Amino acid sequence: MGGLIMQVTGIGVGRGVAVGPVLRMPEPLPDPEDITSEFEPLVELERASDALGATTDDLNLLGARAGGDAKDVLEAQALMAQDPAVLEDIEERISSGKTAERAVFEAFRAYQYVLESMGGYMAGRGADLKDVSQRVVAHLQRVALPGVPVSDSPFVLVAKDLAPADTALLDLDKVLALVTRDGGPTSHTAILARSKGIVAVVGALGADELADGMTVVVDASTGNVVVDPSPDVIAAVAARRAAHAAVAPLTPGALADGTPVSLLANLGSPAEASAAAELGAEGVGLFRTEFLFLGAAEAPGVDEQREQYRVLFDAFPGKKVTVRVLDAGADKPLAFLPEAHEENPALGRRGIRALRDTEQVLRDQLQALAEASADSEADLWVMAPMVADVAETEYFVSLAREYGLKTVGITAEVPAAAILADQIAERTDFVSIGTNDLTQYTMAADRLLGTVASYQDPWHPAVLRMIKSIGDAGTGLGKPVGICGEAAADPLLAVVLVGLGATDLSMTAAALADVRAELLRHTLADAQHLAALAIDATSAADARRVVSEADSSH
Ligand code: PEP
Ligand code: MG
Repeated sequence: MGGLIMQVTGIGVGRGVAVGPVLRMPEPLPDPEDITSEFEPLVELERASDALGATTDDLNLLGARAGGDAKDVLEAQALMAQDPAVLEDIEERISSGKTAERAVFEAFRAYQYVLESMGGYMAGRGADLKDVSQRVVAHLQRVALPGVPVSDSPFVLVAKDLAPADTALLDLDKVLALVTRDGGPTSHTAILARSKGIVAVVGALGADELADGMTVVVDASTGNVVVDPSPDVIAAVAARRAAHAAVAPLTPGALADGTPVSLLANLGSPAEASAAAELGAEGVGLFRTEFLFLGAAEAPGVDEQREQYRVLFDAFPGKKVTVRVLDAGADKPLAFLPEAHEENPALGRRGIRALRDTEQVLRDQLQALAEASADSEADLWVMAPMVADVAETEYFVSLAREYGLKTVGITAEVPAAAILADQIAERTDFVSIGTNDLTQYTMAADRLLGTVASYQDPWHPAVLRMIKSIGDAGTGLGKPVGICGEAAADPLLAVVLVGLGATDLSMTAAALADVRAELLRHTLADAQHLAALAIDATSAADARRVVSEADSSH
């Protein structure tokens, strides 16, 4: 590099730092040319069918290797490669004289457009289709699939962005850090990087300048990627990594002045519980019960549910376990809570609204929770999603009390609930803030839509003021206020949230260590000062900047 100093800046995910050589993700395959095939349609059809079959097998194999959430994503992609509507479209295009490559590309692209125009959850699946299409075309052209490069030694992966299959399958022994040109703080890549504990900088516009072999320092705490660092910088990175590893993972969460802040885990299945406890989770701040039943055709019975909850509770004896009753609808449809077609499902009959209409489902769930909790040592807290006002709060609290549940609260994620937080907190034992939906609804920006991803930023002062309203209500009434959305996993934002009145923070377990270390650097007065700066900022970027600057000068 001949002494050239270069720096690229983006949005850091977490507070980690790493140093290593760049390895770039290969560019996507070019679109196949639209030329008339020189072969008979039957030959092209057979080629297409072989390539689709091979892609299905590849994806299923990758899924089996990855396990967990990644397995579901990859198996869903494998099914896309066998979708009858797409196959029929490919056949038609081949009969009209197109090559197998072009027919596959056009059919998947048409389908992708349809999904993207539907918005919400479906739009996200459009990107997955594109990845499937690339895989089939790579088979047809007998070229290597553009994907995460393979190397014998560890590297910093630099990419435009990553497909879900790429992120899910990253070899954590090899990928030291991740730098992407696209993506915001709540993009799919950022969320997965956070849950896997990968040092990452996303949305780094200058990432295209980073070439294979350059040595870079990736610093998530500043969002900077420094090319050709000096030996002093490399030594400082090593010292920071050692200091980070030295934070005892099991010390209870607290600020520098000893103010306790419980650090809890967000879970989607009882199977994740013991790993979360090992990573230092002091309990569970959000158990998303709908994830247990996404594939179920019928409402799960009381017995079946009780067994699942018992496994969860047994992993946290004597600890708080916060279970959210089914949050169905919008991006998480459940077959047994049939939805009418809705133009805007995120604004539709979801969460507590759907449960109220099918009360027996809610009653069965409360009964199963009460029974599982009766013979367990876990401290069960129960909450309802998408509650907007006093009527819905009173409805849920009284129903839960009928089943003998002692600690009952609501998830504050609709702006109405934040505005009416004083009325609501008076009627509950606790409130937990779902910052993902609270951000989506405050900013009026679909949380699953890439085109409005920049609005989905919990640092936005409008969102922080909503949180403050809930924090103030909790502080005034002496009621616990938790945070269970992604925001809690951003270490510096976590400090701001505590300054706004949060008493506990729940997140993906991999983020606990970074947040624990960051909290220990600030007193309550300091956190309140940073919170005051953030809510006076004029944009999310401004809030991030003023808080980072105040933090580094302290
Ligand atoms: C939220 O909305 O912030 C939340 C925690 O719930 P979910 O992400 O499941 O909607
Ligand atoms: Mg939510």
